Amino acid sequence: MRSLQLKAIQQLRLFESPIPDPGPGEVLIKVSHCALCRTDAKMLQQGQRDLVLPRILGHEICGTSVETGERFVVWPGQSCGVCPPCTRGWENLCSRMKIVGFHTDGGFAEYVKVSKSSLLKVPESLPDPLACLAEPLACTLNALEQGRVSKDQTILIYGGGPVGLMMAMAAKSLEATPFVVEQNPVKFQRSEKFRGALGIEGALDGYSFRSSTFDVVVNAAPSPGILPEGIHRLKDGGCLCLFSGLTGDTAYPASLLNEIHYRQLHLAGAYGCTRRQMEWALTVLNALPEAAACLIDGIIDLEEVPAALEAILAGNAMKFIAKL
Ligand SMILES: [Zn+2]
Ligand SMILES: [Zn+2]
Repeated sequence: MRSLQLKAIQQLRLFESPIPDPGPGEVLIKVSHCALCRTDAKMLQQGQRDLVLPRILGHEICGTSVETGERFVVWPGQSCGVCPPCTRGWENLCSRMKIVGFHTDGGFAEYVKVSKSSLLKVPESLPDPLACLAEPLACTLNALEQGRVSKDQTILIYGGGPVGLMMAMAAKSLEATPFVVEQNPVKFQRSEKFRGALGIEGALDGYSFRSSTFDVVVNAAPSPGILPEGIHRLKDGGCLCLFSGLTGDTAYPASLLNEIHYRQLHLAGAYGCTRRQMEWALTVLNALPEAAACLIDGIIDLEEVPAALEAILAGNAMKFIAKL
């Protein structure tokens, strides 16, 4: 089968590789589409904590079961089911987690083998390329759950790339009001159609919104300056959710952290998603297909993936979807 393998950092090539042989509890999936993610681009550029090389990348997968012909998206985790996080329903935090496209081969190939328990049925009316967005959208739903977002709350989202915009879509689905800040004018311009479709307020500068404080602040960008600014922008009792990891090694003054104390703020974190959140994401996408389609830059062939990953690293891309 045709596959795109990362042999070593910065060495991503097309290969002819054997069709995987599913073991007990596993299913062979004929991949239809697999979305490109910023994490794939980073793995190509510099590797990643959980990446085991050589590897077929790709973890935002939609395809059909070779056995039954049913259409599925793949929850990319393979959790143990018995560790403390797993038994609490936080399988995304499993202590023995293996991830498709990181520890095991992923979806930039004609076929992929995955655990049967990772399959989630795609609603009939949802097209394959849009179904690929279920995984990243589910990660944003996780962030809003961790931030305890509820109806009619205001959410300030830092970062207007594809993930920040999906976060806004997730907030809309909860009947909350998202505000998206994106400082890069090119990226901001590119999100106009999506924001228009969902009626989402956006700005180049977070201080130009009609609201000056928010119930929840979430970062979908790694700048460390988001932490102090985000804390200042919270209402009393609000929640700051760290969705994107912060870069650098910034020390924060006690006066800033004391705001958490005096104003009874909450601090939350979110990483990955659960199967339940991915199922939920499929229903959100199925309800808002026109808006979701605005996030797609193009459906591309496997050989165009390396160049598209470079475009993602350059910073202004939305979502590219590889068609197998
Ligand atoms: Zn991803
Ligand atoms: Zn576990």
